[in-house]
Order: sequence, then C-alpha cells, then structure tokens
Amino acid sequence: MKGKFKKNFKLKKEKLFKTDICVIGDYVDFEVIDEHAGVIHSIDKRENYISRKALKIKGSSYRGERLEQIVAANIDNLFVVSSVARPLFNNKTIDRFLVIGESSYIRTFIIINKTDLDDENLIDEWAEIYKSIGYKVIKSSIITGTGMQELKKLFHGKKNLLWGQSGVGKSSILNKIYAELDLNIGEISNYTEKGKHTTVTSIMIETELGTFIIDTPGVREIAPFGIRKEDLGHYFIEFPDHSKNCRFNTCIHSHEPGCAVIDAVENGKISAERYDSYLRILETIEQDILF
Ligand code: GDP
Ligand code: ZN
Repeated sequence: MKGKFKKNFKLKKEKLFKTDICVIGDYVDFEVIDEHAGVIHSIDKRENYISRKALKIKGSSYRGERLEQIVAANIDNLFVVSSVARPLFNNKTIDRFLVIGESSYIRTFIIINKTDLDDENLIDEWAEIYKSIGYKVIKSSIITGTGMQELKKLFHGKKNLLWGQSGVGKSSILNKIYAELDLNIGEISNYTEKGKHTTVTSIMIETELGTFIIDTPGVREIAPFGIRKEDLGHYFIEFPDHSKNCRFNTCIHSHEPGCAVIDAVENGKISAERYDSYLRILETIEQDILF
C-alpha cells in the first residue's frame, strides 16, 4: 500500500494506527509491479463491513478503550457457525455474532454443526428459539452430511463469511462441500497445545464461479464494536416489536418502569435466554474509539 494511506490514519496524540486500512473483500485499484507484487492506489467505498473490538495490544489502548478491527468488507451473507459439542454450544456467543451481523445490515444465518454428537436432539430447542424470531438455522454434520447441500445452495453466487469460535468446524464444512479445497483442520485432541495447524489469517476463495467464501481464523472472544447502549435493542431482532411500546423512548430495557421488553420476557414472548444475553452485552459496552 502507498504510504499515504498510513499517514491518513495516524492519530497524532495517541500514536495509534488504524490496523485495517485494506481488508478482505475490498475492491481496489492496483498497479502490477511484477509477477509477485503490486501497489494499491485506492480502495473503493465499502458497501458494508463486519468488525469487532480489537484484542488489546500493548500500547494501543488506554482507559479500557479499544480499537475497531475490520474482519471483512462487501459481504452478502454472514454465517455464524456454532457446534453442538466440542466446543459446547454457547448461545451467548452466537448472540454476540448476531448483534454484529445485524448492526452491519448483513443477512445473517446460523449454522449448528456436529449434530452427529447430539444423540438426544437437545439442540432442537435452541434451533426453534432462533427460527421463531426469524433466523434461518442450518443444522449440519460433516459426518452424516446433513445440511451440506442446503449450505452449498445458500453460498451459491454470493460472498459469504463464515465466522465462529475455533473448532466448531468452519474449515471442515468447506472441505466437505468443495472437494477440491484443502483447508487445514484443527485437531481437537490437541486443542490446548500450541502450534496446531488452523486458519491463522482470513482467506477468500472463489469456490464456484461467482461464489466466494471467506474463512476466518477461529476467535476465542468476540465483542461488537461501536454500538451504543441505547441502540443495542435494535439488533436483537425480536425486540423492536415490543420496545415500541416502552413507556420511555430512551428505554434500554434493563430496569425502567413500563418497559415492554421486560413484560414480554415475563410473558414468555421473548426468550429469557436471549434477554439474558442482551443484558450481558449491555453491561460490557464501553466507550469505543471512533475514527
Ligand atoms: P474451525 O476451527 O471452525 O475451522 O474447525 P475445524 O474445521 O478445524 O474442525 C475442528 C475439529 O472438529 C476437527 O477435529 C474436525 O474433524 C471436527 N469436526 C468438524 N465438523 C464436525 C462434525 O460435523 N462432527 C464431528 N463429530 N466433528 C467435526
Ligand atoms: Zn424497554
């Protein structure tokens, strides 16, 4: 990249740099230098992008404030990938990813993988919660092949981002659907050992003509960036139907009298688990550094 990009993003006082000047999915003008190199001259305006709070980097954060890390741009579909077990299904994590998808105005799907490990169909109850509020939920297994054809159809002709905790099976699903791919698969048995082979940087692959998949490195911790407390409720897609009836239009649905969201939870119209996720995210919203 030309040096001018970096200069533009320098924050004089704090000596911080925006970490993601150009990201996967960006459209750029570039000049070919030789077979192996080129120079990016300009980056097109992004239609949308997905971001998270950057992990704390030494010297880059103060007073608990955190930078934004852009994961990918110009995405059609976000697939939030989870698994029944290994790692154990975690609805709170899913809800964090969903908030990021909704706040980025990107079509968001939920994959629940490793259904072969769910002998008693315990996951159906969760799937129903998400289906009932309007999400498409795809149950999948690379062992039984469940869900593979459906996913292939959903991916077709789109730019898709697969995102989720490490070990849920993102790379395995892609390898299963597209036989010619050969992505590294993490060994779950060596889960805690260092040096295992997994996706370390995001990569975008054209799997079929016009179909793109972005495989992201597994994440351990995820937090939405740049969301204000008063806006969080918009990104829990079942809330607005109720919150329009809250007594105060500044209601953040945590303790206010006349809160229609709290009423809906008490009447079983909003899942108590989803509401609990909401409260947890609400608590962790900090001041973000906005550029
Ligand atoms: P990623 O980090 O999300 O890309 O996960 P990987 O694709 O590396 O998979 C992590 C581990 O889960 C590997 O040992 C896979 O063989 C295993 N795995 C992936 N999908 C399934 C599945 O559907 N069922 C079972 N039982 N194991 C799976
Ligand atoms: Zn309310």
